[in-house]
Amino acid sequence: MPTQNLYLDYSASTPVDPRVIELMMPFFREQVANPSSQHRAGWSSMHAIDQARKQVLDLLNAKIPKEILFTSGASESNTLAILGTILALQKKNPGQKLHALTSKVEHKSVLETFEQLKEFDVDVEFLPTNAFGQIEIKTIKQHLRPNTVFMSFMWANNEVGSINPISDIAALAQEHKICFHSDATQACGKIPMDLQTTKVDLLSLSAHKMYGPKGVGVLYRRFEQHHPCYPLIPLIRGGGQEQNLRAGTLNTPGIVGLGEAARIAKTEFLTTDSLRVSEMTHEFQTKLQKLFPKVEMNGHPTERIPGHLHLCFPGVRWDQWLPRMSKLCVSTTSACNSDSGQGSHVLRALGFSDDKIHSSLRLSLGKFTTPAELDRALVLFKTIL
Ligand code: PMP
Repeated sequence: MPTQNLYLDYSASTPVDPRVIELMMPFFREQVANPSSQHRAGWSSMHAIDQARKQVLDLLNAKIPKEILFTSGASESNTLAILGTILALQKKNPGQKLHALTSKVEHKSVLETFEQLKEFDVDVEFLPTNAFGQIEIKTIKQHLRPNTVFMSFMWANNEVGSINPISDIAALAQEHKICFHSDATQACGKIPMDLQTTKVDLLSLSAHKMYGPKGVGVLYRRFEQHHPCYPLIPLIRGGGQEQNLRAGTLNTPGIVGLGEAARIAKTEFLTTDSLRVSEMTHEFQTKLQKLFPKVEMNGHPTERIPGHLHLCFPGVRWDQWLPRMSKLCVSTTSACNSDSGQGSHVLRALGFSDDKIHSSLRLSLGKFTTPAELDRALVLFKTIL
């Protein structure tokens, strides 16, 4: 990265791939027409958006263009998936008390929306996970009720990096005719996904976690006739964009960038970069462990997203040390939690003590991380430890 900072925070946001920037640029300068405009320039913008839709479908191995709704990012996609579906289901089943499940370690945009469901008289439950932060099928089964209509479990956790058994959860949801949403923001573009075999009904993703721009994302919505999720109630109304489900002028440069990021993820990251990043991460972890043998890994040791480390350094108070190491960009909680100032709800849900929370650190590497940067990081850690 062309910066003095030592950036090991790819799970918070990634640098934009230069090829993505290059493809976006004409849509700021020359190809500025509103994609909804009915003239040649407008159609050309819409054509670029259609292309991006195909690239996202390709990344997910999905087939139907209208399954992809462009949004402003994963927070919006999560909100639309949860609230939009529940409101639609309530309309379809008037007077019936609905029950919805999620886990305690979801992103705040899921947790807060579930809290909001209570105001709509929905019964919601926040399920515990195992010690790695993974939701277990047996836990879900124990909480199913005849009126369970919706559940949301993330594909991979943004703090400890563990991957959930999404295919199994999707199969369980199908068996019980429950609508299943997965927040795949941390997994998309990093691990392979095949929505032909993994039958999630709704899925959220965000461009800025996979080398695309900030402020643009997708809600994937499975299209099958007589699907239990249909219809979705829009939360933003106005123009008829995105099949009347998400009004607002389409963000052409952002969407084009997201499409290109999806293409690069599919053709490069998933085929080669992910292995290289995983190996580099493992080597870095080993070197850190040599420096500080007491280092423990949080989250699942193998079922985890590439490049993502969550480590506990017993006895080290990172809240005191990190402000003195301002060039080192790492996280003590997710970036979204940092703004709330409340610390990590994920680590608390995993039962971590205050000491363990204060001595844990998320380090996330990516495809632009260099061995030289990791050497610099090791020197820094050596000084502290
Ligand atoms: N879900 C997860 C798991 C995330 O990590 C994030 C970003 N921190 C979001 C949702 C929100 O994404 P966005 O920034 O695109 O709203």
